Amino acid sequence: MAAPVPISEVKGNSRENRTAAHSHIKGLGLQASDGRASTTGGGFIGQAAAREACGFVVDLVKAKKMSGRAVLLAGGPGTGKTALALAVSQELGTKVPFCPIVGSEIYSAEVKKTEALMENFRRAIGLRVKETKEVYEGEVIELTPEEAENPLGGYGRTISHLLIALKSAKGTKKLRLDPSIYEAIQKERVRLGDVIYIEANTGAVKRVGRSDAYATEFDLEAEEYVPIPKGDVHKKKEIVQDVTLHDLDVANARPQGGQDIMSMMGQLMKPKKTEITEKLRLEINKVVNKYIDQGVADLVPGVLFIDEVNMLDLESFTFLNRALESPLSPLVILASNRGLTHIRGGESLPPSAHGIPSDLLARLLIIPTHPYAPAEIKQIISTRAKTEGLTISPPALDTVSSLGEKVSLRYALQLLAPASVLAKVSGREQGRIEIDDVTECEGLFLDARRSAQHLNSTSGYIV
Ligand code: ATP
Repeated sequence: MAAPVPISEVKGNSRENRTAAHSHIKGLGLQASDGRASTTGGGFIGQAAAREACGFVVDLVKAKKMSGRAVLLAGGPGTGKTALALAVSQELGTKVPFCPIVGSEIYSAEVKKTEALMENFRRAIGLRVKETKEVYEGEVIELTPEEAENPLGGYGRTISHLLIALKSAKGTKKLRLDPSIYEAIQKERVRLGDVIYIEANTGAVKRVGRSDAYATEFDLEAEEYVPIPKGDVHKKKEIVQDVTLHDLDVANARPQGGQDIMSMMGQLMKPKKTEITEKLRLEINKVVNKYIDQGVADLVPGVLFIDEVNMLDLESFTFLNRALESPLSPLVILASNRGLTHIRGGESLPPSAHGIPSDLLARLLIIPTHPYAPAEIKQIISTRAKTEGLTISPPALDTVSSLGEKVSLRYALQLLAPASVLAKVSGREQGRIEIDDVTECEGLFLDARRSAQHLNSTSGYIV
């Protein structure tokens, strides 16, 4: 008998399927009724007080009462600070900008530290622009490229035009489009049965979703089904676009940019990078403020998350302090796993708590994270194993958990993947991790403390 063809199901698209360090975190896991954290929720185990405090921060950001403020997540390594910040971004949703960086990212040979910080500040401030545009909108019922001889001679034929028919609830319209719009259509991967709109003035194409007439066709969860648009195909439509101030800076970093918000938005289509100057930013702020006052645009202050903030130096902290006072400022979430330590560039000064200058520290809301109890460590490891699709026997789970207590949670979590490789090599059923695999990995991979001991006891290193 022929062996069955191995087929495995792939859910969703590949991006979501990748297991990253925090893939199991889906949100803060707070109760909708009172904002309290149950012992487990949203992929989180324990750290209830910190999750509740982060819940307040989310509410304040949503109420736009948090811009220009800063929160510090302070706690030892592996106590879930980064996981909390990611959960905050998940709670805020995709429409609120969230810009995560690590303190050391601001050091580069090409860009000044303060410039890099400013850029990230502006990535964390969103602008929702409402614009009425003339569009052609409908379900694509015909899509035929028209070919012609290559005008430059040589082999092959080129696309001279694209014939497209769009259907709305009120009728159908056939359009002949320029080849440049054909490219835009290909970029958006438009096919028959999709609902799209084409901006009449710029030719920009937006795929809105798949017509719900096709909803039973494949029933893919990833697909967003939309109804056939109401009204005529050719009409005026209010379009809402979400951009960040940094998008506008980049798009308008050219001599003629920045006079009015619609031409600024137009520049988004054809970015051409030159230097973003302070003067340009001020000009963009002026236009943005004007349009906010007129009700054309809404400011959406988001979150700038600076992990390992102790990597910043005195100059950057001074800049941060000043930037927080600007009226166009996001919520800044900082994370530090340091206790009393010297600030970079301030080694002659006394050590400072969390590696942050006291004047900045004084204006922060500090959320502490605490070390985990043994039962919590075990549960976190078990959740991670499940997320990574690994099978682990109860005694092996106990061994990994005790390493989590004795060494660190991070070290224990990192042993899971290599231990599962060993388990598979041993040909064990479902690649189940056993104690032997964990012990072998412990021998193969040193933790930080054992590595330091190894250094002290072994010669041959360059000192
Ligand atoms: P560091 O100071 O070293 O950067 P951290 O406090 O940012 O550490 P994380 O990176 O958030 O720690 O946590 C380490 C790992 O443990 C991550 O995979 C994280 O998702 C997981 N983790 C930490 N706390 C929890 C928790 N309460 N529930 C579930 N998973 C957790």
